[in-house]
Amino acid sequence: MTVLITNDDGVSAPGLHALARALAEVASVAVVAPEHERSATGHAITLHKPLRALRTTIPGLAGPAWATNGTPADCVVLGVLDLLPERPAVVVSGINVGPNIGRDLTYSGTVSGAMEGAIMGIPSIAISVAAFGPVTFDVAVDVGRALLDLVQRHGLPADTLLNVNVPNLPRGQVTGIAVTRQGARRYINRLEKRADPRGRPYYWLGGEPGPGPDEEGTDSWALERGMVSVTPIHMNMTAEDVLPELTRRLGALRL
Ligand code: MN
Repeated sequence: MTVLITNDDGVSAPGLHALARALAEVASVAVVAPEHERSATGHAITLHKPLRALRTTIPGLAGPAWATNGTPADCVVLGVLDLLPERPAVVVSGINVGPNIGRDLTYSGTVSGAMEGAIMGIPSIAISVAAFGPVTFDVAVDVGRALLDLVQRHGLPADTLLNVNVPNLPRGQVTGIAVTRQGARRYINRLEKRADPRGRPYYWLGGEPGPGPDEEGTDSWALERGMVSVTPIHMNMTAEDVLPELTRRLGALRL
């Protein structure tokens, strides 16, 4: 039983190393990760240049590891279709530094690694710690091990992944684990306009987490209460509730 681990913080990231070492205690682990940080690359794949995968080592990990010049989604494709000796039973992406909640999901390379796994029919989990500064991976590692066990026993429905966000708190301060919905949290003040040394404008994207809405039962709501948030995410983004009305309106349309 092989677990494929990827991330978007890059193959040198401490969160990836902590996750790989912890899961290696309970499964055979292979790492395929970007050679440098690819955060916020979303679900991009590389179509217009060659992909390379070089063997590397993860401190304290016996299993194989590769660094690629691709995105997290590329890494999963490379791992599943060629690099790994067998098809992985589970894909785990992380542990990311920074939350992936609310509107972050389609920007997130971490979540997209797990989305690619789900598309390939493999039960997949994305794990992030809601940290913006110094980070502790202790609880996230435990949660990763527990969810791997759960997914191995029961699988996941088709086209479904688990998006897991862990509060950046010491073990004793985490108040529980909540199954949540994707919230609406987004970033504000996202665009900074500056002048370069020659006086020409340039822009820097970023921003800070906006205020709520932290509706009860959402990912951000759980994190704010010190709980681990586990959100089941479906790959089909059809707005089912809009179908009847849209069908009615388009039915009256003459082309
Ligand atoms: Mn990242």
